[in-house]
Amino acid sequence: GEYGSERPGRVIAHFGRTLDVQEDGDGPTVRCHLRANLEGLVTGDRVIWRAAEDAEGNITEGVVVARSERQNVLERPDARGQLKPVAANIDQILIVFAAEPAPHPNLIDRYLVAAEATGIAPVLVLNKIDLLPEDGGELRALLTRYEALGYPVVSTTTARAEGLDALHARLAERTSVFVGQSGVGKSSLIDRLLPGESLRIGALSKDSRKGTHTTTTARLYRLPTADDAELIDSPGIREFGLVHLNEQQVAEGFIEFRDLLGHCRFRDCRHRLEPGCALLEAVERGDIHPERFASYRHIVDSLSET
Ligand code: GDP
Ligand code: ZN
Repeated sequence: GEYGSERPGRVIAHFGRTLDVQEDGDGPTVRCHLRANLEGLVTGDRVIWRAAEDAEGNITEGVVVARSERQNVLERPDARGQLKPVAANIDQILIVFAAEPAPHPNLIDRYLVAAEATGIAPVLVLNKIDLLPEDGGELRALLTRYEALGYPVVSTTTARAEGLDALHARLAERTSVFVGQSGVGKSSLIDRLLPGESLRIGALSKDSRKGTHTTTTARLYRLPTADDAELIDSPGIREFGLVHLNEQQVAEGFIEFRDLLGHCRFRDCRHRLEPGCALLEAVERGDIHPERFASYRHIVDSLSET
């Protein structure tokens, strides 16, 4: 058929060479195919597409003709361990944790390092605050340290009607993804934000067992509950974690280390026992929290094990 003029849009889902594209603004969602020279589009990509219309002027389908430059991309290893993009143009990674199951030591740091490596801003979401003791307990104290480092912290509970107010404010005008260990309440949060939709995510992965779609296919949702808020979700994204980082990237993932890196006496300093190590000196001075430094060591040591 004949295709009309070029329009801007965003990929909200993809199934091989077929994509669902939503026109910018409040435009329609249109099933599109890809022009032959385009490959590797992912959910969240901003694209230029052209619509085919029937005799009444209704859009019947579309063709994607170009992809705009990506602001960032979230990657996951495929079955062969090769990193593959799964979603693009994300504004923030919401790292969900809770008092139950309690995060084991280093877990928050591992997520933060992984997020920093993508260049996407991390936000710490403390869910299940209904389970915290009156004074907030250890978890609250831990969070104060992350806030002092500059990380936004949002407290939530799905047990109360107003439990998501702070989260709504944080989601507005941004594209977000939720990550975090199993049981912290990601599905419950998404259920509340997108009534009915997270069930569809489950349905999607069931389909994939029959081979219709891939389990990792991510989908972009517009939230009815916050202004111009978008969420990209898939089982694969929820399992986001540390992937193939080297020592340097891990060090850079600790934001309070950044200004010190490059100031050690030895250029190849590994920040272990070396004299004149800027990081060790900062720990001595109290500028780096000893637990954050221990966590850095632990993550670096775990890299060489894999
Ligand atoms: P996911 O694995 O991260 O998706 O976690 P789920 O959403 O499946 O939640 C795990 C369990 O925690 C479920 O039994 C939920 O009902 C419960 N849960 C979720 N949010 C809250 C909360 O804010 N407070 C309490 N007390 N329980 C919650
Ligand atoms: Zn050093």
